Amino acid sequence: MDMFDSSTVLGALLLVLILVIAWITFLLLNRIEEIKQLKAALDKLMRSFNDLDEQARLIVKTDLELNKAQEELEKRLLGLNTLQKFSRDISKTLDTKEVFQKINVSMLSELGFSRALVISYDEHKALRAKVNIGFPLDRLEHIILQLNRDEHFKTALKDGHTFSSVNCSKQTREKIVQLFAAEHFILTPISMQNDIGGILFVGNRYTAPAVTEGDEELISILANQIGQSLENTQLFEQVFRSSQMLESKVKERTKELESALEKVKLISKQKSEFISSVSHELRTPLTSIKGYAAILIAGKIGEVPPAVKDRLVKINTHSDNLVKMINDLLDIARIESGRAEMKYLSQPIKPLIDNIADLLTPQMRERDLHLKVDLPEDLPNVYVDRNHVERVFINLVGNALKFTPAKGTITIAADPKLDNGMVVFSVADTGIGIPEYDLAKLFEEFYRVDNEINQSVKGTGLGLSLVKQITEAHGGHVWVTSKVGQGTTFYFTLPTTAEQAKPQGAKKE
Ligand code: ADP
Repeated sequence: MDMFDSSTVLGALLLVLILVIAWITFLLLNRIEEIKQLKAALDKLMRSFNDLDEQARLIVKTDLELNKAQEELEKRLLGLNTLQKFSRDISKTLDTKEVFQKINVSMLSELGFSRALVISYDEHKALRAKVNIGFPLDRLEHIILQLNRDEHFKTALKDGHTFSSVNCSKQTREKIVQLFAAEHFILTPISMQNDIGGILFVGNRYTAPAVTEGDEELISILANQIGQSLENTQLFEQVFRSSQMLESKVKERTKELESALEKVKLISKQKSEFISSVSHELRTPLTSIKGYAAILIAGKIGEVPPAVKDRLVKINTHSDNLVKMINDLLDIARIESGRAEMKYLSQPIKPLIDNIADLLTPQMRERDLHLKVDLPEDLPNVYVDRNHVERVFINLVGNALKFTPAKGTITIAADPKLDNGMVVFSVADTGIGIPEYDLAKLFEEFYRVDNEINQSVKGTGLGLSLVKQITEAHGGHVWVTSKVGQGTTFYFTLPTTAEQAKPQGAKKE
């Protein structure tokens, strides 16, 4: 029993032990599983933490880059503003000195630089400093000397190449740094349309930030603006010089013309005086000749044979023609010299024209010609000397009569539209016309066209000259259009007011 009991107890204890071990094992396995899970969670956590850390670093980096980009942007904006202002300023001037004065310390610092040189070529192709900011004189001389000597720079700049401290080879960079004593720099040509106008240098010492592509762009724009401005100034100077030359030539010619005009006036005056005195001298003996002829024709001295009488009648007719010619000459000379007495009066023109039409109707009928008068209803009064204007119409219509074959039409008309307040009259015919060559000389004294009618019809060549003198004495002018074989139209203007008339020595009423 004891034996049984003790083995039973032992067995029971063993069982309990086994159970306890099994329990502990179970618990241990559970813990291990928990630890495993925890470790997996920890790993996950570590990974997310690393991710977060990476992201935070990225954000800081992006933020820095953004700040830098913003700074760069602000710098460019300031630079562009400065260039815009510079461009506006230089567009107002055509003086190169003023253009160079605008490139000053404050403008340069707005572009982010502390040193600058503008060197341009003079008319002898030698480099001359136009702007110097930050260079002592001796260094400047040295720089110009070197730039003149260095063929590499010269050709590269001529080809439009820009050197900057970030884009050029180490060797070139060192050369420029040494020459200009600036570690950060841009050296660019000032290009003009056909040539290089000079060189622009900007730079900073090594303490300043390095130049960027944006800086290069801005400085290139500045160099272009300077080039354009130099070109404009050169063009302006050329235009100015040639306009001055032209002006002095015009002055010279005007002077010559003025003195020629004075001479012409003097000659014309002498001619008028000469014609006047000769005409006067001729009139007296002519009057006597006419008188004697009339006495002889009338048979007051005795009976004259018919053959002699015929000759005497011819003498009388020729004398009449001569008197008419002399009177015309005297009138032309008087009007030309302003000695003619003109009686200006504001009056309607219609009665005057009707009167002329009546006067010439018999001749019209005789020559089988038709006269048309075409005047607008509301034609204003003209301010004229009636007798003189009558002569204008009679001369023009008389000529039309002479040079228009039978069945033709002569038209006296007035334009309803005024020419600078003056009435434009016209006398048109359907006659033989005038060759173009003769038109220019038509108003000269004694000028007659060489045509068949003129060979048989008598005339003096003074009628149109008188027409010209009278219209011009009224402040008007006369002109003509003509087509050979189709007809001729004379136009002339007459004033409507006293202000328009230029009465020379006239008696105003
Ligand atoms: P004249 O009639 O005495 O010759 P004018 O001075 O009146 O002198 O005219 C000069 C010339 O102009 C005339 O000889 C004539 O050849 C030409 N002429 C003038 N009026 C006309 C016209 N209506 N048609 C053709 N020729 C004309």
